[in-house]
Amino acid sequence: MGPRGLRGTVDCSRCASPAVTFLRYSGEHLCRDHFCESVERRVKRELRSQVDLRGGERIAVGMSGGKDSSVAASLVSQILANRRDVELVGVTVDEGIASYRPQGIVFAQRLCGRLGIEHHIVKYEATVGHTMDEVVQTDPGAIPCSYCGPFRRQALNLAARDVDADFVATGLNLDDTAQSILMNIARGDIEKLARLGPHEQVQPGLVPRLQPLRMIPEKEVYLYAMLRGIAFYDATCPYAERAQRGRFREILNRLEAESPGTRHAIVRGYDRIRPLLQAKYPPARLQACARCGEPTVNEICKACELRERLARMAASTESAASD
Ligand code: SF4
Repeated sequence: MGPRGLRGTVDCSRCASPAVTFLRYSGEHLCRDHFCESVERRVKRELRSQVDLRGGERIAVGMSGGKDSSVAASLVSQILANRRDVELVGVTVDEGIASYRPQGIVFAQRLCGRLGIEHHIVKYEATVGHTMDEVVQTDPGAIPCSYCGPFRRQALNLAARDVDADFVATGLNLDDTAQSILMNIARGDIEKLARLGPHEQVQPGLVPRLQPLRMIPEKEVYLYAMLRGIAFYDATCPYAERAQRGRFREILNRLEAESPGTRHAIVRGYDRIRPLLQAKYPPARLQACARCGEPTVNEICKACELRERLARMAASTESAASD
């Protein structure tokens, strides 16, 4: 524990101000200013390691209105404040979840207004042909995220292309990244593991992803938003509890509590073996989906496969009702 200050509070490890947080993985107590500075420095370093902006680029930031994407948009905007030659644009995917998404959109719109950037919305109704609420009604036994994940990836890519973006930045944090690595290992899906973002290669039709918060723990993203006054929609999707990711979140939280630094170790370890994985599984040759024309490794893309599954389920429900 850091030294006690006069007020009985713990002092910052770097100055005499009261600490607002303790980072167990580094053993540091940090005051408001040193904590915010530390987050900003790490995000700047991460962004630089992912992309070399030469000027003239347009970056779409995927904005849900939640804490992660709001902090990502604010920080990228701040980091690029002196780069008049790089343009940011906010993009929100509206999955069509009536009890959840509309409020998030309001927060995303407001933040874009504050940052002085354009805001675009892409709806599942337009890209998928159904809202997520309809998907859940049509296939009630499925895990909603198994539909929503591929639909979102496609919608975000379409939206980024529509706004002529060279990159799309997301709010993926350290917890999300470590969970994805563990999930792919647990499933033995090493090929997918090799292809986790951030993307280093440009593939035709696919806008490469940037993940500026990749090394920032979720709790620190939350604290940063609170301390910097970044307003965000603090709610959880009603379908999230059925996500498989939740099991991995619990496992990882337990590991982190017992051995602070586990999340960082998982992601750093992954980064070290990534070149080997990518040598074994180089980016697959993409082709146009036979149904929608979007880039895919298979003849039919995952989103179209799922759309067709939904159509079959709707047809069998209709025929059962008419019997
Ligand atoms: Fe979609 Fe699942 Fe996220 Fe909800 S929790 S928005 S269903 S991916």
